[in-house]
Amino acid sequence: MPLPLDHPALAATDPELAALVAAEERLQADTLRMIPSENYVSQAVLEATGTVLTNKYSEGYPGRRYYEGQQNIDPVETLAVERAKALFGADHANVQPYSGSPANLAVYLAFAEPGETVMGMSLPMGGHLTHGWGVSATGRWFRGVQYGVRRDTGRIDFDEVRELARKERPKVIFCGGTAVPRTIDFAAFAEIAREVDAVLVADIAHIAGLVAGGAHPSPVPHVDVVSTTTHKTLRGPRGAMLMCREEHAKALDKAVFPGLQGGPHNHTTAAIAVALREAARPDFRTYAHQVVANAKALAAALLERGFDLVSGGTDNHLVLIDLTGKDVPGKTAAKALDRAGIVVNYNTVPFDPRKPFDPSGIRIGTPSLTSRGLTEAHMPQVAAWLERGVSAAHKGEEAALATIRAEVADLLSGYPAPGLPTA
Ligand SMILES: *Cc1c(COP(=O)(O)O)cnc(C)c1O
Repeated sequence: MPLPLDHPALAATDPELAALVAAEERLQADTLRMIPSENYVSQAVLEATGTVLTNKYSEGYPGRRYYEGQQNIDPVETLAVERAKALFGADHANVQPYSGSPANLAVYLAFAEPGETVMGMSLPMGGHLTHGWGVSATGRWFRGVQYGVRRDTGRIDFDEVRELARKERPKVIFCGGTAVPRTIDFAAFAEIAREVDAVLVADIAHIAGLVAGGAHPSPVPHVDVVSTTTHKTLRGPRGAMLMCREEHAKALDKAVFPGLQGGPHNHTTAAIAVALREAARPDFRTYAHQVVANAKALAAALLERGFDLVSGGTDNHLVLIDLTGKDVPGKTAAKALDRAGIVVNYNTVPFDPRKPFDPSGIRIGTPSLTSRGLTEAHMPQVAAWLERGVSAAHKGEEAALATIRAEVADLLSGYPAPGLPTA
């Protein structure tokens, strides 16, 4: 069993909080973490996040700050920017957005006026809240029009996207999403965006690590702006980046600061720089391809066990399971699996007849377990646990869940997680 990490000052100052952190370390060590937007960052990224860089204010950009004392901060941010540009092949990078949602908000601020039309994939079809969905500020302050996937294929219908774009003439088009198990065809979106003269944004929050590692095509040659979080497959700290062609650099920078944000989180910028250095190494390419290989092997094993997968499988790190045929609601399954030591999230499936807070599906992914070293060889076992867990949820067999939990912890004890202690 892993021991809790040593945080002596934290334990002395705030034992209550330290105990919660220790419990979380144990939880992350002992469970199969399958939420596809999560990962394990390296010890180096954790250390960068915990540095005195958090003490420094630095509104502005390197060489153009509103505060003094930037002797070390400027080179830190410049390192992150240059590494982002090199890794993704972009003309320009802004590493200051606090997270993915503010990054997307900055894109709207740069390219659209309130009330203008913006277009994205609808949330229940796999898009993100910030792609113009109604409850989000982006859907309230702009006129959001939304495309989806085809009922028969579970994939984007580019005829529908083109027709909608021609009819609605959006200023900004977002492609990418949070529950998209298939390759995003950036070139097809670019053709449509060009035709209607819209700014095309690729939101690669989920797949940035796959793009960086060469396991998903890059949007950079095709789109105006790339938006990404840094904490999902890219395996960095919680944060975000915007990348673009030179022509949009000024507009985007101005939108992030002073348009939307104040001082950048320099400890996060430092950790982003570290993560980008890690992502440029050959072993990260291996990681990215292994994430996809694991997801494909997992999808195949699930199909063999009679699971219904949205779009019939996966091209990336993510598998969306429609549990309708198993007669278990997504939320019931997700909560049971949590008790079985398998952490997933319940999720809508396209054309879901159920409500968003109790939908028909669960969303799973392989980034975290691949970071621990699990391979295709383990995926039949993972699929078997998922089936036993869902079946136990159906029958209300609590003891079966406890058995799975013990088996999961037993396997994982042989695969230590980055950034977490081992026994
Ligand atoms: C995760 C995600 C975001 C938002 O990121 P936060 O950091 O949670 O704000 C934006 N877009 C997509 C497609 C995402 O998956």
